[in-house]
Amino acid sequence: MIEANNPNLKTWLEVAQNSDFPIQNIPFGIAFIDNSKFGVSRIGDKVINLSKLYELGAFQSILSENYFDKDFLNDFLKKKKSDWRSVRNRISEIFTDENNKDKYTSALYPLKDVEMCMPVKVGDYTDFYSSRQHAYNVGCMFRDPDNALLPNWLHVPVGYHGRASSIILSGTDIYRPKGQQLPLDAKAPVFGPCKLLDFELEMAFITGEGKPLGDSISIDEAEDYIFGMVIFNDWSARDIQKWEYVPLGPFLAKNFASSISPWIVTLDALEPFRCKGEEQEPEVLPYLKYTGYKNIDINLEVQIESANFSAHTISKSNYKYMYWNLNQQLAHHTVNGCDIHAGDMMASGTISGNDESAYGSMLELSWKGTKPLSMPDGSERKFINDGDTVIMKAHSTKDNVRIGFGEVRTKVLPTK
Ligand code: CA
Repeated sequence: MIEANNPNLKTWLEVAQNSDFPIQNIPFGIAFIDNSKFGVSRIGDKVINLSKLYELGAFQSILSENYFDKDFLNDFLKKKKSDWRSVRNRISEIFTDENNKDKYTSALYPLKDVEMCMPVKVGDYTDFYSSRQHAYNVGCMFRDPDNALLPNWLHVPVGYHGRASSIILSGTDIYRPKGQQLPLDAKAPVFGPCKLLDFELEMAFITGEGKPLGDSISIDEAEDYIFGMVIFNDWSARDIQKWEYVPLGPFLAKNFASSISPWIVTLDALEPFRCKGEEQEPEVLPYLKYTGYKNIDINLEVQIESANFSAHTISKSNYKYMYWNLNQQLAHHTVNGCDIHAGDMMASGTISGNDESAYGSMLELSWKGTKPLSMPDGSERKFINDGDTVIMKAHSTKDNVRIGFGEVRTKVLPTK
């Protein structure tokens, strides 16, 4: 067992019963503290300045330089998995041993006093399409139920390269995008604000430094190159998407914003929540074959909040519903020799469960707008309105340990 994952560990810091951030989590992020950005971790509602810990000698035999006195975690992510693990174990050790109280308390800040920032500078962003139910639902709506899945879907972890520049942090408002759309029965496209603005409930993994161009990361090696995960809301303009996506896939329908949660929960911390994935039939090609449990049981929730009502849950899904797991995604991504780098972000694709209440987008929840959702103030939603805030939450639980991601929260403003 990874030492920091021990469910019996107790910290000398105060942690609320239902906190996403017990001593067993130890996530990583970047925070703005005293006019500078630093690498941080978190226990309960205390933010730990890791740069300060370094200066106090906490990582003496582990790190040869201060990777946390930086604007982003990318340099730390260039280290090996064994270093990431040693640092996390060391943080756990410090905050479980009461004798460290005096020495390290100066590195702690109340969460409310710090501003969270983008944890990594995202070099490249890839979006997969790995939930079978989501691909099936979209196929039913845009093609026909008998041929909902395209012939390649059960053989290839389908994905496309997205836009890194517009990946934004939780709390950053977005403007309703504008673009070309082809109204029903119209002969020519019109230009205007998107009318069918949607979220996509996804999780993304963040990579370490890969191999040189031309080399591949095998399915067994994949975990050594994955640092951790965040919640990922892949904003989508459905009307723009429908008109533009043939033949090369989505473009302006997706590149205006994707929102992430600020804390990267390490793959190590998620290890206890591994679970079995769906049986893959037909058999996959050898480079995609895996052994063991590679899915992860992470409860997901989507809420809408507006001026007229407080956070209202509209979907509950789970990351374990993924047909293609993250090992398969990374192995596939690099099988042709594509290089990946520290801080690359790879999103899962919309995660929908079999049940209607577990669908991961408004497109599916309202079935293309034919089944509007009722809100607490009596209003209806087919898609997302101006002034709505979309909130996504994620957490895993086992053996009385809850490992969570906090939330990603984004408000939609009218078109600029
Ligand atoms: Ca997506």
